[in-house]
Amino acid sequence: MNLILIGPPGAGKGTQAKHLVKKLNNFQISTGDMLREEIQKNSEIGKKILNDMNDGNFVNDQIVNSLIENVLLDPKKKGRLIFDGYPRSLTQAKNLEKLLIKTNQIINFIFFLNVNKETIIKRIEQRKIIEKRSDDDLETIVKRYDTYMDTTKPVLNFYSQNSNFYEIDGSSKIEEITSKIDNFLNV
Ligand code: AMP
Repeated sequence: MNLILIGPPGAGKGTQAKHLVKKLNNFQISTGDMLREEIQKNSEIGKKILNDMNDGNFVNDQIVNSLIENVLLDPKKKGRLIFDGYPRSLTQAKNLEKLLIKTNQIINFIFFLNVNKETIIKRIEQRKIIEKRSDDDLETIVKRYDTYMDTTKPVLNFYSQNSNFYEIDGSSKIEEITSKIDNFLNV
């Protein structure tokens, strides 16, 4: 089963993805984590990624799409994908469609975790204390939220007509969101 989790930074996509990975024995495909791994390598691409991330901007579609292509082409992961943070733009959504067709796969469920800006700010400020992420200062948080909402709106429009698209109130407690998702999945 392949799933997409959509939602602004701090909506709880990562937390729910980890739960689903355990429950379904799937793989979490977090483009944020993959990009942070590239930064660790200290390559030229890594430096460019770091600049974009720290400014609260999206990383270039081409860079992200090429990382995702490797994932889709991995036979071990076929039909076992939990997308966390991808696609985030219409170009990425269209790229994913192409790769799904090419690899003979479908997306079974799309969950949109919808949360307002105030809740996100509170949550990310707590995460900052725990994880010490360099892109987590208040100004960047607000920029990341606004960028996400602007750029991801077309992605929501793209998916929202699908019968397997579900909007969930992401400001609920973690366990409540988990149980809602489980109900939709019927697991
Ligand atoms: P995340 O860990 O998902 O909150 O992502 C952290 C940052 O990585 C984002 O603010 C973006 O700068 C970048 N990023 C992650 N996923 C994507 C994506 N699909 N497209 C573009 N940039 C991304």
